[in-house]
Amino acid sequence: MAKLKSNDIPLSVFENAMQQFDEAASKLNIDADMLEVLKHPRKSLIVKLPIRRDNGKIEVFTGYRVQHSINRGPAKGGVRYHPKVNLDEVMALAAWMTWKCAVVGIPFGGAKGGIACDPTTMSQRELEYLTRRYTSEIMDIIGPERDVPAPDVNTNPQTMAWMMDTFSMHHRQTVTAAVTGKPIEIGGSRGRVEATGRGVMIAAREAARHKDLPFEGATVAVQGFGNVGSMAAKLMHRAGCKIVAVSDVFGAVYNEQGLYIPHLIDYVKENGKIVGFPEAEAISHEELLSMDCDILVPAALENVIREDNAPSIRAKIIAEGANGPITPDADKILNKKGVFIVPDILCNAGGVTVSYFEWVQDRMGYFWEEEEVNHRLETVIVRAFNDVLKMAEEHTVSMRIAAFMLAIKRVMDVTMMRGFYS
Ligand code: GLU
Repeated sequence: MAKLKSNDIPLSVFENAMQQFDEAASKLNIDADMLEVLKHPRKSLIVKLPIRRDNGKIEVFTGYRVQHSINRGPAKGGVRYHPKVNLDEVMALAAWMTWKCAVVGIPFGGAKGGIACDPTTMSQRELEYLTRRYTSEIMDIIGPERDVPAPDVNTNPQTMAWMMDTFSMHHRQTVTAAVTGKPIEIGGSRGRVEATGRGVMIAAREAARHKDLPFEGATVAVQGFGNVGSMAAKLMHRAGCKIVAVSDVFGAVYNEQGLYIPHLIDYVKENGKIVGFPEAEAISHEELLSMDCDILVPAALENVIREDNAPSIRAKIIAEGANGPITPDADKILNKKGVFIVPDILCNAGGVTVSYFEWVQDRMGYFWEEEEVNHRLETVIVRAFNDVLKMAEEHTVSMRIAAFMLAIKRVMDVTMMRGFYS
């Protein structure tokens, strides 16, 4: 497989997250000292991970785990493997997890982890050793009641199985609730693999309903074809949308009549990329982003829509499958243009919501049918969408600022209730 192309992530993603926080907080009239309490991550851990590569050499990788908040419950959030992972990015992603869990009303705080590595150049053995060493190095701060990791970019149920096993070996008992996003056979939840994509589909559908735009037949462009992008495309296709364009790190494909997504998924399974898919023509990444379509789903990494390319966006709705795909400057441009944006902390919250269901099921030792998981997920996302919309209309702010306002208020309320231990 070809090497991952590193994305062009400017220095501070955390700065972007802070800007969103400040704008929302200013509408809530919060005391400056309370802002300081809510803003900063409570704990950041950096670990060095020496791994013996298949060629016999030792390579030292750097891993991170940041807990932004535990005020509403155990910290929660994924672990990503990517060459560009750094502390600033993980801090931003951890903060977004706090606000995400609060927006959908699940009893968790926020965390994130990651390892700076290129998993596409590593063997399964190397990935297993890296994952196990990382888990053992962050062991003291994770656990079912402390901080519960999950999959994110370039990690998957197998990664979670290794994490759960490593944690369990050290604790001399099987602790399934220590991580979520596991394979179903070892305490995973039905519906978890599709959950983030399903949440994106539900949120996009609610946005279309709000904008009086028929969802069936709506034209959709999806940027990114990992777990989130592919599942969102599959479920939106199934719901009757016309997925006209899809991209991954290697390129983008287009079909005016709509791509047949099950074929594309099979093609990617075989070829490792979407480039060359015979039922489509090749286009560029920029062409995909500026496509004349109803719904654009950025579902890869941060800062894909920036000040320079935002003016060329023609979609009516943007459903943020990724975390932080739009910079604050681009956000302003798009809001002015009247694009309806369903923000990440609402739009992609389906994953962590079903992670919550998984954690609940593990702790009960009783597992639900997929129908029940999907039904509960639907209820949570639709309710959160309506809560955010109501806030946006009441305060005449964007959906993003409304989502942040709702989340900050919820976290602030429990912080006051719990008081300060000093
Ligand atoms: N990585 C996902 C996210 O960014 C899921 C996190 C989780 O399930 O804890 O929301």
